[in-house]
Amino acid sequence: MNSYVKDLMAEVKAKNPSEPEFHQAVLEVAESLALVLERHPEYRSAKVLERIIEPERVMMFRVPWTDDQGNVQINRGFRIEMNSAIGPYKGGLRFHPSVNLGILKFLAFEQVFKNSLTTLPMGGGKGGSDFDPKGKSDNEVMRFCQSFMTELARHIGPNTDVPAGDIGVGGREIGFLFGQYKRLRNEFTGVLTGKGLNWGGSLIRPEATGYGAVYFAQEMLATRNETLEGKVCLVSGSGNVAQYTAEKILDFGGKVVTFSDSSGYIYDEAGIDREKLKFVMELKNLRRGRIKEYAEKYRGAVYTPLDPGNDYNPLWNHKAHCAFPSATQNEINENDARNLLKNGVYVVSEGANMPTTIEGVNLFLENRILYGPGKAANAGGVAVSGLEMAQNSMRMPWTRDEVDKRLHMIMKSIHKTCVEVAERFGTPGNYVNGANIGGFLKVADAMLDQGIV
Ligand code: NDP
Repeated sequence: MNSYVKDLMAEVKAKNPSEPEFHQAVLEVAESLALVLERHPEYRSAKVLERIIEPERVMMFRVPWTDDQGNVQINRGFRIEMNSAIGPYKGGLRFHPSVNLGILKFLAFEQVFKNSLTTLPMGGGKGGSDFDPKGKSDNEVMRFCQSFMTELARHIGPNTDVPAGDIGVGGREIGFLFGQYKRLRNEFTGVLTGKGLNWGGSLIRPEATGYGAVYFAQEMLATRNETLEGKVCLVSGSGNVAQYTAEKILDFGGKVVTFSDSSGYIYDEAGIDREKLKFVMELKNLRRGRIKEYAEKYRGAVYTPLDPGNDYNPLWNHKAHCAFPSATQNEINENDARNLLKNGVYVVSEGANMPTTIEGVNLFLENRILYGPGKAANAGGVAVSGLEMAQNSMRMPWTRDEVDKRLHMIMKSIHKTCVEVAERFGTPGNYVNGANIGGFLKVADAMLDQGIV
């Protein structure tokens, strides 16, 4: 670690105590940017990185609501408006009991670079709540969303800050949030993305993150004249990103053998085909059940419950070619990275945000596998959110084919940027440096142009 990064990290830790995920995200970016800051002292003297690390604005608020038994419940709501140098704040809302300020700051920080890579004019933000939608009735989720939006509405707007979904926030939640915003403001605008198709949503938005992560993997494989055809793929999670990652892998002739949720994972050696995937979509999106039921329905599959005492995740310990982590942060630790390499995995395309610890990332880089970090590989979701904003502004929807073509083009462009930038800064094949530096340059130049704000 060079002395600039060391001093910067000491300050970040002192100013933002108890936020380990935020420290991790900043460290990864700062290490890549050390290469740029040496060549471009103007960024350093204008303290561009130091300013990007400090959110432009943080909102934290009380979200009171009443459950079905009439008990008063209180959750905490957040919105981090991280950086608006290149466009309105943009980034998802996460509803999960683990949500806290540090996790949302790491996500908002990563979002700044990711949004810049998409080529679209979007700044970075993130928000959410420690509310757990699991086990709640639709009415409880609605009352929570209405209370959450009653406060959030005063801070967001179609030209200011445009939230979307993330863990625990899908079509149902976006619907309740949008309904309340519209009621409060008496305005029908594109203030949220991930909307329903008949009220301003974009085709391909639900599919976009998963499809994008697979397009990115295809691009990485193409650098070695290979494709996904016949490749065995490990997918974690079983939510939005995991489902559409699996669908696109099947389109490209690959074989998916795993899915998970926070209780455990299933391994289906025969492969999860389209019929089985349809079952998972119904199980997770409609019945809101647990992945364990997959192994009850398909007898060839094996379910392994999560063992919190393990220092590795057995999902990552199967013979395979590719891994698509699509659940949550730090789900691949150093042991998991070692197991993946040992089992023959040489393509990792991150659908989740920061799913690999720094030690795991370093192992991937040392072994020179095709490693696509989340900032680049999962940018398809926010890219199509950007396209949804464009369609809302024009009041004109595009066809499925048109949006998918644009998504594919954007993922190719992100891949190209990563490859070219990594090479330009002397680290060919290092997609981490490519994504961090590529995302940084556009934001940094905009910040220089706009003065000290
Ligand atoms: P969903 O809520 O649809 O699905 C999340 C999945 O991950 C579920 O299977 C969930 O299991 C599992 N999961 C969540 N938290 C944990 C945990 N702590 N440990 C183990 N498993 C967990 O979310 P998404 O699919 O939208 O998001 C998945 C990842 O992709 C996140 O990292 C998100 O930030 C990232 N992402 C999402 C984008 C999007 O467009 N939706 C865009 C870019 C990135 P369970 O049901 O048991 O909770």
